[in-house]
Amino acid sequence: MGVPSIFLRTFGCNFTCDGFGMPRGGKSVERGQVAFAHRNTPYKDYKELPLVSTGCDSYASWDPAFKELSPVLSTNAIVDGIMEILPYGQWRDEHLVITGGEPLLGWQRQYPDLLNHLKMHDLKEITFETNGTQKLTTEFKLALKEWSKWYNREITFSVSAKLPCSGEAWEDAIKPEVVCEYETYGTAYLKFVIATEQDFADAQRAIAEYRAAGFEGHVYLMPVGGVESVYSMNNKNVAMLAMKHGLRYSDRLQLPLFSNAWGT
Ligand code: SF4
Repeated sequence: MGVPSIFLRTFGCNFTCDGFGMPRGGKSVERGQVAFAHRNTPYKDYKELPLVSTGCDSYASWDPAFKELSPVLSTNAIVDGIMEILPYGQWRDEHLVITGGEPLLGWQRQYPDLLNHLKMHDLKEITFETNGTQKLTTEFKLALKEWSKWYNREITFSVSAKLPCSGEAWEDAIKPEVVCEYETYGTAYLKFVIATEQDFADAQRAIAEYRAAGFEGHVYLMPVGGVESVYSMNNKNVAMLAMKHGLRYSDRLQLPLFSNAWGT
């Protein structure tokens, strides 16, 4: 948090996470309602889509119902877009965060091109915000090794592993061997989104599985809540739980600063 960052958001996810903010076992219908409204009166831009208080707050970046609102860009166009956003038109101290959806799906094929682009030469730090279920391909592993070999470049895997409160099944979401391999190619940390004591018990079970597999990174707890009303019910309790158990707390800075508006 607080690091000047460019966010590159890729389209597509292997999950839907319709359980966030719902009673256990419940599925959010908000995304379906937005899709229904979009079919009748199409939104022109993803920034017009309503924020949701339940389910995945990044639904516009993976639900096929909204795919046409995401541009298809060449590597050159992405790099030019990044250069326009960078305060000095070139990389200095900024961080590149590649997020989604799930950015380690087939997009792995595309990143070597992006990272080796001439105008990306001065980039020193990348974070992949992943759900921790996707193995790295052999080609991508080689590309990451090569990229990080120069100029103290750093790679981080910010792994938001999905607990049952997301609505995803444990065996699909908790993949310790996948996440442990990320640690060979950079720094990895785990981040669990939670609201209740039951969620925390699930997080503890997951942490035990990751540690048993050899995971060495830090562990963060983050309050559930894509909108302020939900977040503010949870944030203090989650911070207290983190302190009580010697874990790290991750806030959602985009909420107090920007109300989680699209693009933040
Ligand atoms: S893994 Fe992340 S992006 Fe994918 S559906 Fe779940 S919360 Fe949304």
